[in-house]
Amino acid sequence: MTDSRRDTVRAVIVTALLVACVAIVTLVNTRWREATVLNHFAYLPIAIAATWWGRRGALVALIPVATLGLLDVLGMTPAPSWTDAVRGAFFLAAGGVIGTLSDRLRARGAVLRASEANLHAVIEASSTGVIVYRDDRIVFVNRRIAALLGDGKTDDHVVGRSIWEFVHPEDQPGIHVLLSQRADDPLAALRYEYRLLRMDGAIVWCDIASAPVVFDGKPAILVSVYDVTDKHEAEERRLELLRRAREQEDQLVHSTRLAELGEMAAAVAHELNQPLTGIRNYARNATYMLENDAGDAQEVRGNLRLISEQVDRAARIIQQMRSLTRKSDREFVPVDIVGIIREAVDFLAAQFRLSGCEIRLHFGEGHPVVMGDRIRLEQVILNLLTNARHAMEDAAERVLTVRTRIEPESPQSVVVEIEDTGKGFAPDEAEKLFRPFYSTKGPGRGTGLGLSISLSIIKEHDGLIEAWGQPDQGARFTVRLPAAPPGSRATEVTT
Ligand code: ADP
Repeated sequence: MTDSRRDTVRAVIVTALLVACVAIVTLVNTRWREATVLNHFAYLPIAIAATWWGRRGALVALIPVATLGLLDVLGMTPAPSWTDAVRGAFFLAAGGVIGTLSDRLRARGAVLRASEANLHAVIEASSTGVIVYRDDRIVFVNRRIAALLGDGKTDDHVVGRSIWEFVHPEDQPGIHVLLSQRADDPLAALRYEYRLLRMDGAIVWCDIASAPVVFDGKPAILVSVYDVTDKHEAEERRLELLRRAREQEDQLVHSTRLAELGEMAAAVAHELNQPLTGIRNYARNATYMLENDAGDAQEVRGNLRLISEQVDRAARIIQQMRSLTRKSDREFVPVDIVGIIREAVDFLAAQFRLSGCEIRLHFGEGHPVVMGDRIRLEQVILNLLTNARHAMEDAAERVLTVRTRIEPESPQSVVVEIEDTGKGFAPDEAEKLFRPFYSTKGPGRGTGLGLSISLSIIKEHDGLIEAWGQPDQGARFTVRLPAAPPGSRATEVTT
């Protein structure tokens, strides 16, 4: 029924009751001379009108009051005038009280309806999707969800369906687990990031929070849904770029290792030459003794043992070459940093010897184990040692000092210092050295990548690398790495 039709019907009812009231009051007082009970009929139209129209409606009380007054003036009522006056006052008071209460109720209802409308408008306009479901059936969704999951125009496609129709099958088990956790704590609010399915089958990544509510007077679950597909795609793109960057960096690390290897080839050839010459001489010696019955079995055995030692030495050199050229996948395990330094120093020992450099090793107390990738850490040490050797080429005094120590403050760190007495550098240059392609070694010698790769490797290990130098007074590179958790045992070297 429309508002105006309803008002007309009400007006007709109240008018009919008033007419009846006037008739009854007149008849009761004039014809039957009965002034009490039936006069109360007047309360009926007054109460109804005051309920429907408030204090304004209570004015209808004036009609029975006027009727009574008129009859009284005309002397047609059996009761004394003062009782008619009291009766009329009661009519007016009843109308006033009921009208005031009705006005108040109506005002409160209007406030409630306005706030409900506001709330509804806010929920509908919200960029967060809102779903309410009960017993797995969706009972309410806002416009955002209709757009996100349905056809975007109405919520008809979504409301009434099972909530699980919109959850990606691979994510359902995880959500069941979360919901079972809520079974332990029914008031717990849950938050998670999962894939929802649109009606057309497309996937939408959503940040979802859910909590129990009372909806339409019954318990239900309120789910707020925030579309994070863009963020997710951006994150995937970022990870893909990171993966590619890592691949390229691996490739670069590998290439610089090969470049260093090329430079080392001469020294390695020299190094291999020694055991080979030894092997040839001991073999010739043994053959001579056997052919000419010279020497005894003991001497021949001694020669063979020396041959075997020289073969081991040659094999070690070749093994180190292989470990250096091997392309590594990152593998973070507890590694013995002193072992790595020893190997790197061993590997470059021939070059240092040829350059007339003295090597001093000071390995401090304790057994420094760090979590790291041994091949990449070895790459850093080799680079620092090679730079030190290059820096000392024209120096009068050529001493390389390598120190290690454990710094006990928490968390523990392992410090490696590689110091040389070479040409050094100005203190303000220190930072520049780590920039890619910064090199002072001239064409064909330096790539300018060694220290920048070393920096990225050390950062990958959550460590720090710093350079100190003074022109013609040498340089010191300090690497600081977090120590492996107490009790970690370094894994054996496999090459
Ligand atoms: P490259 O060795 O190929 O030049 P690096 O990144 O390893 O590239 O080194 C960059 C530059 O840092 C070197 O060219 C050199 O000028 C400077 N440098 C590195 N180590 C030392 C050192 N121990 N003493 C003096 N200068 C150094």
